[in-house]
Amino acid sequence: AKRQGRNNYRFYVHSANAASAARLNMENKLRQALEFEEFEVWYQPRFDIRKGIVVGAEALVRWRSPEFSLVPPAQFIPLAEDTGLIIPIGEWVLRTACQENQRWQRAGEPPLHVSVNLSARQFIQEDLLITIEQIVSDLNMDPHRLELELTESLIMPNAEDTLETLKALKRLGMQLSVDDFGTGYSSLSYLKRFPIDTLKIDQSFIRDLNHDSDDSTLVTAIIAMAQKLRLTVVAEGVETREQLSLLSRYECDYAQGYLCGKPMPATEFRQFLEKPLNL
Ligand code: C2E
Ligand code: CA
Ligand code: CA
Ligand code: CA
Repeated sequence: AKRQGRNNYRFYVHSANAASAARLNMENKLRQALEFEEFEVWYQPRFDIRKGIVVGAEALVRWRSPEFSLVPPAQFIPLAEDTGLIIPIGEWVLRTACQENQRWQRAGEPPLHVSVNLSARQFIQEDLLITIEQIVSDLNMDPHRLELELTESLIMPNAEDTLETLKALKRLGMQLSVDDFGTGYSSLSYLKRFPIDTLKIDQSFIRDLNHDSDDSTLVTAIIAMAQKLRLTVVAEGVETREQLSLLSRYECDYAQGYLCGKPMPATEFRQFLEKPLNL
């Protein structure tokens, strides 16, 4: 039994080393990816339920790795956050998304916004405001067309500092939305104190909307609260016509999900904008 134990221990040490070596290796690959511009920004439409038109898009990063092909963000954003690489990656995403938004405007599209996800690490970074202001002014972009998506867990920990940063972003003219709303274990008091424009209801509440009365109760309550607080509401993960028609009855403002369009590369999104929507 003793020998067995020792072997187990050795095995454990060995695999812990292997794990940290693999991590370091991935970190280096991420650094290279940044240097060789292997990241892409894909765009998923946001749909105005009342008007039946596309009003903007969410920017979602992808890593086109020569070695692993197309890597979804869930597989590299956590490591990018741990290593701080999220700061240059996030800045690249912001700039790329704003540039693409300018392209839509120049092509004579009706005004469209672009939403960019911010991670906590970026948010607490001192240069954040300067970086964003610089990007918007370099591109001569109407700041109103840039929306920043924040999660509740990002907003809550340091409420006073957060409030100052959010106010500063509003002064610059950006839109602010709460991503994955309803999943963050946080008190709702921030909604009255913080200058938020939009709630994005997490897709876990939408998935069974047509079959689960608890979900429809929660979604109608969120929409009613948002209307009173003068916030707009986006339902995430809308996949079926049945979900969309319920959301329309509930007076939800916007829908995002596979029904209206999956995330797609920039050129494909531009073609998507040219075509009439058939829902
Ligand atoms: P998120 O911000 O909640 O983005 C929505 C995710 O839901 C996207 O996954 C999107 O492809 C997926 N989705 C959209 N519609 C549907 C639907 O109808 N059904 C289902 N099942 N899924 C749908 P994606 O692109 O893999 O991104 C995952 C997460 O990675 C994002 O979740 C966001 O938290 C993070 N992320 C993506 N891009 C960035 C970025 O540039 N910066 C940061 N910090 N995080 C990012
Ligand atoms: Ca998001
Ligand atoms: Ca979300
Ligand atoms: Ca408001």
